[in-house]
Order: sequence, then structure tokens, then C-alpha cells
Amino acid sequence: TMASPALLMRVVASAYSVAEKAATIVRNVMSAGDLGIVEKAGPNDLQTKADRLVQMSICASLARKFPKVTIIGEEELPTDDVTDDLIEDGHCEEILKKPCPAQYTGIKEEELVIWVDPLDGTKEYTEGLLDHVTVLIGIAYGGKAIAGVINQPYYNYEAGANAVLGRTIWGVLGMGAFGFQLTEAPAGKHIVITTRSHSSALVNECITALNPDAVIRVGGAGNKIIQLIEGKASAYVFASPGCKKWDTCAPEAILHAVGGKITDIRGNSFQYNKEVKHMNSAGVLATLRNYDYYASRIPNTVKESLVP
Ligand code: AMP
Ligand code: MG
Ligand code: MG
Repeated sequence: TMASPALLMRVVASAYSVAEKAATIVRNVMSAGDLGIVEKAGPNDLQTKADRLVQMSICASLARKFPKVTIIGEEELPTDDVTDDLIEDGHCEEILKKPCPAQYTGIKEEELVIWVDPLDGTKEYTEGLLDHVTVLIGIAYGGKAIAGVINQPYYNYEAGANAVLGRTIWGVLGMGAFGFQLTEAPAGKHIVITTRSHSSALVNECITALNPDAVIRVGGAGNKIIQLIEGKASAYVFASPGCKKWDTCAPEAILHAVGGKITDIRGNSFQYNKEVKHMNSAGVLATLRNYDYYASRIPNTVKESLVP
């Protein structure tokens, strides 16, 4: 008989289905029309009914299946009295069939940390920029992002009523990433992608110093990493605090699984153990290729303004 699948593959297979359920909730809240917007730190730090319901759905669903895993979600909400209609107990059979990379076969539940951003790009969601939105489930082991699921609930939403809406991208270090077509950015062009709703003088100063051929301003950390792996942009540059560990964990695992690199603006890698500070205080620098080109051109004055 076949050995039962490794824990990591069971977690990723479940996270895939949990993220698809999350996407359905994101779409249903929007079509019902009552977003229930609450300001957290201020007008650029919002929470909607979708952020709340999805957080409860993801965290409660994964906690029921994997009770000893540490799950850290963006929203501060109870998970004990989550209603059954929010629970997803399915999994992706195709993921379960794939062999776990050898270095991860012995992982135990208590060694995993799952970072959940129930809805990344909330500001854009409230403004109807629906394809900026993603659901992020990142899986960390030994402080490293080793696997991730990114669901884009409104992928294809401009393609018309008959198009299939939404997609799920997933990846594991040592296996690769799936659910999209890996594409190189235009050769010889420096296309920088950055924040749309959280700019600052420093963010702009850093981009100007890179002398890019084009700058794309869109919402969401998940969305920006998708643009990198699909060749729409060559570097994600965000010289500001504001991004948190749940924004970068799933994107990092997927980017690293296809040979890319993500660090803070100073070149330090991110840590994802459960005790770590949530804020990525020293910003984000990510590329699929040519990381060193961009890293070497970040001004020292910018680096010194951002304390990890
Ligand atoms: P953005 O590129 O602006 O969409 O930011 C990527 C992620 O970091 C999103 O989850 C944002 O909510 C978060 N973020 C970035 N900057 C800030 C900020 N100044 N305040 C709150 N959240 C932020
Ligand atoms: Mg986010
Ligand atoms: Mg969020």
C-alpha cells in the first residue's frame, strides 16, 4: 500500500480548497453589495466583511484539520464560534498525488506556521479594482516560507460573462509553482511595479533612482508577485514599512519556487517563525530575474531610512 501523503502536501492540498472557498466568499460579499467597511489604523488601512468572513473561514478550516499548526491571520477576530457554512474540509487531489520534496517529508504539525492574508488589496477591492485582489496562504517551516497558495478571485473578470472567473496559483520550494504560465519580462527593460495606495516620498525617491523604463502602480503584494512571474514587471520595489509577514509569505514561497528572490530593501531575507515581528519595516524588493541589478542600485540614503 502507498504511504499516506506527507503533512506538508496535505496542508497545501487543503489550503488550495480553502482558498477557493475564500474566493467564493470574496465574490459573494461584493455581489451582495454591503461591504461593511471598517477603518483599522486609518483610511488607507481598511477591513471589509469579506476580510472578516474569509479570515474566519480560512483559519477555522485549517485549524480543524491541523490543530497543532500555528495559524497567524491579519485580522484580529475570534475563530472559536465560526459557523459551519464557513468551513471548507475538501482538498485538491492533484496536489496530494505529488511527491513531497525529501527535505520536507518529516515535518510535524507543531513545526509549521501558516500566515494568512484573507484579502490582500482591500483598498482596491473597495474601489472596484477587482483583479488586484488576492487571498494569501503562506506556509513556513524553520522560519522560511516553503509553500504558498495565492487565489485571485477576479482573474479574467474583464474577459466577459462566459470566462471562468478566478484562479489558484500554488507552489512548494523544490517542486516549482503551478496554476499560471511562467513568463519572462521584456528583455533589457526595467519595469518597476509598486504600491498604488501607500506611496510616500521615499517610495518615489527609490523608484526614481532606479531610472525605470516604466512604473506600474497596482494594489496588493500578491498581485505584484503574480505580475513578476507572468513577465508584466521586472522588479517589485516598495521602500516603506506597511507590508506584513502575511503579505509576503505565500508570494515569497511561490517566487522562490520558480527561482526568483524577495528581500527587504536592504537585502535582508524575511523570517516567518511565529515569534517574528509582523511588520516588514524595511520594505520589499522582489524580482524573478536580475535581483542584483536592482539591489545594487537602491541608494544608501533610502536603505538608511528604513530600519528592519
Ligand atoms: P500595496 O502595495 O499598497 O497594496 O501594499 C501591499 C500590502 O501591504 C497590502 O496588504 C497593504 O494593505 C499593506 N500595506 C502597505 N503599506 C501600508 C500602509 N502604509 N498601511 C497599511 N497597510 C499597508
Ligand atoms: Mg495584504
Ligand atoms: Mg488583507
